[in-house]
Amino acid sequence: MFRRRRTLHAVNGVSLDIRKGEVLAIVGESGCGKSTLARMLLGLLPPSAGAITLEGRNIRDLGHKTVARRVQPVFQDPYSSLNPRRTIASIVALPLEVHGVGTAEERRRKVLDILDRVGLPQRFADRYPRELSGGQRQRVAIARALVMNPEIVICDEPTSALDVSVQSQILNLLMDLQKELGLTYVFISHNLAVVEHIATRVAVMYLGRVVELADTDSLFRNPRHPYTQALLASVLTPEPGLGLPDTHLGVAFPDPLNPPPGCSFHPRCPRRFEPCDKVTPALLRDAGGENAVACHLYPPSPANASLPKTKN
Ligand code: SF4
Ligand code: MG
Repeated sequence: MFRRRRTLHAVNGVSLDIRKGEVLAIVGESGCGKSTLARMLLGLLPPSAGAITLEGRNIRDLGHKTVARRVQPVFQDPYSSLNPRRTIASIVALPLEVHGVGTAEERRRKVLDILDRVGLPQRFADRYPRELSGGQRQRVAIARALVMNPEIVICDEPTSALDVSVQSQILNLLMDLQKELGLTYVFISHNLAVVEHIATRVAVMYLGRVVELADTDSLFRNPRHPYTQALLASVLTPEPGLGLPDTHLGVAFPDPLNPPPGCSFHPRCPRRFEPCDKVTPALLRDAGGENAVACHLYPPSPANASLPKTKN
């Protein structure tokens, strides 16, 4: 549905389609551009080049209101994302008010319905965020995202600020709602166990680029990009990412705004070879045309004829 083309600062040459009804996970270390990409998909941040399209139309031309009707976010932090001076009902009803949906009474009914759907008692409608637990607040944020019947929900680390005991409840709720309502999710996460559990496809980002895009099974069984391999290998260490080789003179993560030349993973890559520090590998489809990888270890296949060019 979306297609991101060409270049911009924190997110470079990202080209990916989001398919209706899927859960597309975007993974990578912090600073890789995941959240920047999320903000662009929401129309909150304009790309400096290229375009984000929704069913073929540039979201800049669709206008903020149309995009907001169809694409809604659930952010990481349910504490800062809810206005403390508003009741739960007025927080959830706000998108309806902004878009002029229904009468006050109809909006109230819609809000009570959606609270029900996300597993909150209707009596919470007249409470304030401070009276709710973290998990309950995230349910409110989910209710607010769904009240407009969006097609796409951008979940940016939706459970990482929550207690571990609550995380799986919220994940299960998100997955139930996705099936029930036929939603499409872009699910941003650094938690690979969660991603393996819920995603249809996975895009792995490194320094603002998608370096591998694959269906979840292929990605976890047969990771092809050396960065994906390193990420998966580090998943068993207590701090994911620390298992990566670091030849960057103590700087574990290069500056995303000033990435190394060529393949930006080359300073940390155990398999780098001659062209890697000079030539940027494009994201190329495999022979089946479904999965893609940006690495010189994998020569182009005929499936790439129709791909948009990745700019350096
Ligand atoms: Fe490693 Fe080269 Fe592939 Fe980059 S292009 S991941 S440096 S082998
Ligand atoms: Mg982030």
